[in-house]
Amino acid sequence: MSHVFPRHSHAALPTAVGGDGCWLIDADGKRYFDGSGGAAVSCLGHSNARVTEAIKAQLDRIAFAHTGFFTSEPAEALADLLIANAPGDLDRVYFVSGGSEAVEAAIKLARQFHLENGEPERRHLIARRQSYHGNTLGALSAGGNEFRRAQFAPLLVGMSHIAPCYEYAERAEDETPEAYGQRVANELEAEILRLGPETVMAFIAEPVVGATLGAVPAVPGYFARVREICDTHGVLLILDEVMCGMGRVGHLFACEAEGIAPDILCVAKGLGAGYQPIGAMLCAGRIHDTIAAGSGFFQHGHTYVGHPVATAAGLAVVSEILERDLVPQVRARGAYLEAALRDRFGQNPHVGDIRGRGLFRGIEFVADRETRRPFAPTTGLAGRLKKAAFAEGLICYPMPGTRDGRNGDHVLLAPPFIATEAELDGMVDRLERAVTAVLATAG
Ligand code: PMP
Repeated sequence: MSHVFPRHSHAALPTAVGGDGCWLIDADGKRYFDGSGGAAVSCLGHSNARVTEAIKAQLDRIAFAHTGFFTSEPAEALADLLIANAPGDLDRVYFVSGGSEAVEAAIKLARQFHLENGEPERRHLIARRQSYHGNTLGALSAGGNEFRRAQFAPLLVGMSHIAPCYEYAERAEDETPEAYGQRVANELEAEILRLGPETVMAFIAEPVVGATLGAVPAVPGYFARVREICDTHGVLLILDEVMCGMGRVGHLFACEAEGIAPDILCVAKGLGAGYQPIGAMLCAGRIHDTIAAGSGFFQHGHTYVGHPVATAAGLAVVSEILERDLVPQVRARGAYLEAALRDRFGQNPHVGDIRGRGLFRGIEFVADRETRRPFAPTTGLAGRLKKAAFAEGLICYPMPGTRDGRNGDHVLLAPPFIATEAELDGMVDRLERAVTAVLATAG
């Protein structure tokens, strides 16, 4: 019997024993193509020599030095590299161990900023429905994913949720994408005015929604309007790029495509590429400076912030992404993958939408393409698809639709940036076989 507390207690999982580029190998020697990088993590694949060497070299020098006493060379170098490439006036980096921790830090930083900026009433956080920001209590409270939140409710107070920008399901037929974007962005302003602008501290959103909706970018103009609304009302804009950042959507930071910069930005997953647990919160200089000139101390911290081995891994990962020009490669291979998905699934009567950016793509399934009616939750489409794909030797990331029927089951694809066109073709082949098998028996 395994003594590891399992993720799903009913399933006996194969044991992963090896990695080879985009492939994972289990104890029986079976190979799996990592079509979702786990959960959009393994952007460099599984056997990157530069990253593993950097980790070993750092271990040989110093494994750990508490940030209450020391900084470290890799943490300083990684912060410099991120800031040199970051949009807007982001110029400080706070390293943590993952995405949820980055979001927690962002929420607390926003709160402390307003306190020290003389606006103590600003404590309300606005987020979007059908979003996911992490599983710790603060991040879970911010997220609008009912499936993950429901049993823990009531969660932290002072949160409200507005509509996501989700064109496929929500744009009216007679509405242009631009008009739709303005309409849903204006929900943010309405909510700020309803609460009273002097009580709102921040708005948090993913530039491209990952796990909850399946690679859904906003329509043009949406985030520009969101930025404008936040500025008008003194509300901080937090962008959660835990999944879509670090080159995944064809820009090092996903918000570059929107022509805006946030006040606080969270990254994780691709930052460590799975080689080490690491996340980061980047913030604008004025936020840091306000606190520096006030209490002088961000009232936060975990034992492993700025861990030397984790930051050494992050430094090697970001250096690989930049020096090997992987961001433009993501754009090119992403276009290739999109064309392949449209070719293979575009005419499928149960495929409602194919979307995404770069190597971050989603397919939404529907029972009826005309009415966009999702499959009933009892069909269990996402779970069956995950199983069928796994049997085909494909790791992908299917998620069920919401129970309220607002969106259907989808599958998220986030292959490593190093995947060749032939490997992407093979991934689409495997996915097609799995989808065909599952849809043949879906009610
Ligand atoms: N934010 C987003 C957008 C995510 O996709 C995730 C993880 N799926 C998180 C936050 C939480 O990250 P972690 O699991 O590393 O805590």
